[in-house]
Amino acid sequence: MSFEGSGVLVTGAGAGIGRATALHLASLGARVVVSDISDEGAKGTVEEILGAGGQASAVVADVADAASVDELIARSVEYLGGLDLAVNNAGIGHHPGDLHEMPIEVWDQVMGIDLRGTFLCLRAELKVMVEAGHGSIVNMASNAGLKNAPDMAAYTTAKHGVIGLTKNAALTYARRNIRVNAVCPGTIATPGMASFPAETQREWANLIPMGRLGTPEEVAQAVAYLLSDQAAFITGIGLLIDGGLMYA
Ligand code: NAD
Repeated sequence: MSFEGSGVLVTGAGAGIGRATALHLASLGARVVVSDISDEGAKGTVEEILGAGGQASAVVADVADAASVDELIARSVEYLGGLDLAVNNAGIGHHPGDLHEMPIEVWDQVMGIDLRGTFLCLRAELKVMVEAGHGSIVNMASNAGLKNAPDMAAYTTAKHGVIGLTKNAALTYARRNIRVNAVCPGTIATPGMASFPAETQREWANLIPMGRLGTPEEVAQAVAYLLSDQAAFITGIGLLIDGGLMYA
């Protein structure tokens, strides 16, 4: 698989799955816009890519903010000379708890970043891709986009929304040479995951039929496949990467 000559934007690429995805795509020859709300995170990923002989540029942006996203897309198009591929990865979780006790601010923040953020990025990316007549996009959903994540009402709802948005965009642009897919990771060992208590992480690993958490690199490989021409007849799917968890 080669992305030589292609330009890709990865959001939330300063850590975890986004960083692994940016590194993997760069290793396959893509020029990468590494975007994150964290300047330090984005620059760290770019340094790693440049150190490995790849090409990348850091752009700080908040995916929940429309003006910030519009500026991000403009700067991406400027650096890449267009926008062939995009990975809408930026997202957050929240601490588990009953719905009736969830602070409204937590709901708004999760919906703002995970769902509104995906919508804002998708909307801006599609404008460029419709004009160019081609494109391939992967949205970061979750297995929580396909089934309930216990005690995580906002996250479950937001990720179900990402799956809906992916299907809508896939069918709207299916005859315009633009594919839109989602990946649905199960429990992946990332810095985001490390913020949960060790005991909780152990419990989650035990629930997985393969008996371990996934790695960011395993998600990155699935993202690359869906972005690539090897997946030329695939659009609108949510690809599970969960060690069998969904069917346990
Ligand atoms: P992470 O916390 O390790 O990294 C997320 C990155 O997104 C960070 O660099 C953070 O700074 C950035 N970010 C946060 N808010 C942002 C904003 N408003 N604008 C731009 N960037 C922002 O998280 P991760 O575990 O790598 O998760 C990445 C994506 O994968 C998320 O959408 C998450 O919901 C999804 N996911 C993760 C898992 C998992 O088990 N880790 C499972 C399923 C889905």
